[in-house]
Amino acid sequence: MIKGKCHCQTVKYESSNDSESAVFCHCQTCREINGSAFGSSAVVPRKGFEIISGKNSLVGYESSSGKKRFFCSNCGTHVYATSSKKPENIILRIGCIDGNHNIVPTHHIWTSQKASWYDITENIPMHEEW
Ligand SMILES: [Zn+2]
Ligand SMILES: [Zn+2]
Repeated sequence: MIKGKCHCQTVKYESSNDSESAVFCHCQTCREINGSAFGSSAVVPRKGFEIISGKNSLVGYESSSGKKRFFCSNCGTHVYATSSKKPENIILRIGCIDGNHNIVPTHHIWTSQKASWYDITENIPMHEEW
């Protein structure tokens, strides 16, 4: 079971399944959308994922064809994303997940677009793309 929320706690979700995979993404879109050096995301099955409050406050933005990112319209938190390439999945932003979970990203992806001002120091696999 995974629970998460946006910063203002308007949007809350639950996933009855654990995360299947997790990555750090250094692509330009993730950097801009997160306002940071990279995005941190974890995949859960769509089946078992539920928005338990704040559904009407979610707004979607298609950052690239088929990739839709969902934000809280009150606080601006990027809560999760979906991709038409893998419609069976929900891509959670790990920073929004509650509590002491054990989700640890295992790969750095899109390092070809990595910020020049950030050096990767973990010894985990890196991929120029994904
Ligand atoms: Zn919010
Ligand atoms: Zn990315």
